[in-house]
Amino acid sequence: MPTPEEEFKEILSKTETYFKQEQELYGDTFFLDGAERDMKSSTEGKSVQRAAEVDLFGNPVAAETLSSKVSEPQPFHYPNEPWVAAQSLDELNKLICNCTKCALGHTRANFVFGVGNPKAEIMLIGEAPGAEEDAQGEPFVGRAGQLLNKILEAIRFKREEVYICNILKCRPPNNRDPQPDEIETCLPHLWRQIEIMKPKMILCLGRISAQVLMGTNASLAQLRGKVHDYRGIKLMVTYHPAALLRNPNWKRPCWEDVQIFRKLYDEMKQS
Ligand code: URA
Repeated sequence: MPTPEEEFKEILSKTETYFKQEQELYGDTFFLDGAERDMKSSTEGKSVQRAAEVDLFGNPVAAETLSSKVSEPQPFHYPNEPWVAAQSLDELNKLICNCTKCALGHTRANFVFGVGNPKAEIMLIGEAPGAEEDAQGEPFVGRAGQLLNKILEAIRFKREEVYICNILKCRPPNNRDPQPDEIETCLPHLWRQIEIMKPKMILCLGRISAQVLMGTNASLAQLRGKVHDYRGIKLMVTYHPAALLRNPNWKRPCWEDVQIFRKLYDEMKQS
């Protein structure tokens, strides 16, 4: 028979799991009414009455911050630094791998630039290195990475055929979410990677990767299930593999996403 304290801890733990799942899907917007939230997901891109949307503190969230529209392509605004002129991924890596422009540069074990075929037509973008990635200097090599390899195999891609990288190149301590200043400092490195590689298709792994790249606050539920145009590159969004490890019931919708991604790739190769 659990003690009242154990029961309380159990409830607390379940509540925490629930909010974490909601955050993974919808970001920091908190829905008081599940039906309202589900209506929002199923009416992507349409005008929706959003009266019930409030943040965690109960304040109404401005409609424009919830828009599922992605921002218009803008010219990249690079800092005035020598690495911006890099013409190859190797050159870029050499020029930025000792970066200490944000605090993460002082706590990382390794700079995690990216891995895979530099001529790949497909780029997979995650959020930030975790402990294993930091230790090895390679993205997606931990448990989430092993699952990512299986996802790739399911759509007949080998890890070496595609290119895999992250929004942040250095590990945030304790795997916390990337901070806005870290994103602002590091994102231009990814822009340059994209400009050099010129991938034909991008798969964003998780909400944060997609939101940062496309400059939107849209939820994962809004971003999934459609093909976005990111500067002329076809971009799709699916669950982060680490989220799938926590919520195996999301594996099926992820499988559906990546099947569409593969189909698009095949169509692109035929055209
Ligand atoms: N999660 C990420 O987003 N990237 C990695 O490289 C590993 C885990």
